Amino acid sequence: MTSLDVFIRHDPAGDTIPLVLDSPHSGTTYPQAFDHAPARAIVRQAEDTHVATLWRAAPSFGATLLEARFPRAFIDPNRGLDDVDPDLLADPWPHPIAPSRKTMQGIGLVWRMAGDGVPMYARKLTSTEVMARIDHYWRPYHAELDALLDTRFIRFGSVWHINCHSMPAVGDARADDPGRERADFVLGDRDGSTCEPGFTHLVAETLRHMGYAVAINDPYKGVEIVRKHGRPAEGRHSLQLEIKRTLYMDEQTFEPSAGFLRLEADLARLTATIATHIRERVGIAPSRDTDAASGA
Ligand SMILES: [Zn+2]
Repeated sequence: MTSLDVFIRHDPAGDTIPLVLDSPHSGTTYPQAFDHAPARAIVRQAEDTHVATLWRAAPSFGATLLEARFPRAFIDPNRGLDDVDPDLLADPWPHPIAPSRKTMQGIGLVWRMAGDGVPMYARKLTSTEVMARIDHYWRPYHAELDALLDTRFIRFGSVWHINCHSMPAVGDARADDPGRERADFVLGDRDGSTCEPGFTHLVAETLRHMGYAVAINDPYKGVEIVRKHGRPAEGRHSLQLEIKRTLYMDEQTFEPSAGFLRLEADLARLTATIATHIRERVGIAPSRDTDAASGA
């Protein structure tokens, strides 16, 4: 198992700033061990397809982009390790479990249900199978993200993190907003608890000035990854950012649409604005230097 099966890390092209983006749900490399029952096109509805590609300019502004390679429906990095679904398993789970409401809907750490409400598997999984997914995918992804954020925090005294996702244009039956057309972007800071309010405001206002409709904490407040990393009182700022898929792709074919390039350019402009904010906050000179050799 190489890290290339698990993630790709896109390092800063120039001088590093304390900004880390991660795309936990855009992986499209389906492991042999998945053994899902429905057609691949149905399973793929769980993906945040193309999200890492949309943000690919971020390293040119000094940010680091972590891209998951494995599919979210196989094992979801945005769920806690105790978020295990007992109905998925053929044998008892040997650790404490605390299934969330999402798990009871079949979309927990390992999805029991695919889109359209069809079962993901034709059989029960063994605890050993699920633990292998945790050890080979979930843990290495989290270890890399933990290390990136810690390294930036130690070097700069603060760190900003954007947890990058996409969402269907209209909520399905399992969503908190079934049948409702969504805003272009939904920012989630768990009701102001995972980053400084000024950061959420900066991102929202920058997008609104570009002409996008932006909602905050509705219907997505942020889940496991921003909950884990967002501690604004300590200088650790974590924001979940959801993009409406119809801005950039065909939700049926998964192909990029005519809007893809415009959105990608707007996200690059947003990243530039965020980078300026962060440079001011931590006292990095605004001009580019060739600091790449200093690593970290
Ligand atoms: Zn997602």
